[in-house]
Amino acid sequence: MIGVTENLSLLSDLLQSAAIDAGRDPASVRLLAVSKKQPLEKIREAAAHGQRDFGENFVQEGVDKIESLGDLDLTWHFIGHLQSNKTRAVAEYFDWVHTIDKLKTARRLAEQRPGGRPPLNICLQVNVDDEDSKSGVAPADVRNLAAACADLPNIALRGLMCLPAIREEFEEQRKPFAVLRQLAEELRADGIDTDTLSMGMTADFRAAIFEGATIVRIGTALFGARDA
Ligand SMILES: *Cc1c(COP(=O)(O)O)cnc(C)c1O
Repeated sequence: MIGVTENLSLLSDLLQSAAIDAGRDPASVRLLAVSKKQPLEKIREAAAHGQRDFGENFVQEGVDKIESLGDLDLTWHFIGHLQSNKTRAVAEYFDWVHTIDKLKTARRLAEQRPGGRPPLNICLQVNVDDEDSKSGVAPADVRNLAAACADLPNIALRGLMCLPAIREEFEEQRKPFAVLRQLAEELRADGIDTDTLSMGMTADFRAAIFEGATIVRIGTALFGARDA
């Protein structure tokens, strides 16, 4: 079985060549290792080889891991659906939240972020395919939500995130990512400057990098299949 160390080095090469093929600086693409449902040893192995950013989907699982790995200097991203009654632990433990789709949730995080910690970095999750089954703000509502979030204390609005429907073809995969990139450009025209496009996973990261992804969120290709 191929281990995390080998996968990490393979993946770094793939991300780098995707960036170069897209005419981008490879340093502008950050790997977010999605460690949900993966054991601590695998996270330690990735960290030992220089991986710093980790993503978790479930609040309690994430908090437990952050506490257990407190001896390492890691950056933790919350990438799951966030219910507004679970914001406090996220505000206290995590460094980033990628899945903001309501002002109410952002407000609670702003109130609950402990003083003395740096601002909590947030991305707005956009429902780019307008799927009923998915969370996310509708593309038409991104500008209003972004403007409201940009005014909150203790929070840094860093950019946009999406989780598009699965597509097989590379050119098809690019389309929803292009929508996200376009939305970020519209924000810039409104005077809201962001630096993050969180998009692309194991199956479609190359297409995301071609459309400007700055954070790709990858689980399976790094850690292998997850425990059910
Ligand atoms: C699980 C998950 C990922 C990683 O998916 P893989 O296909 O395993 O790379 C990325 N983003 C989000 C929001 C996820 O929930």
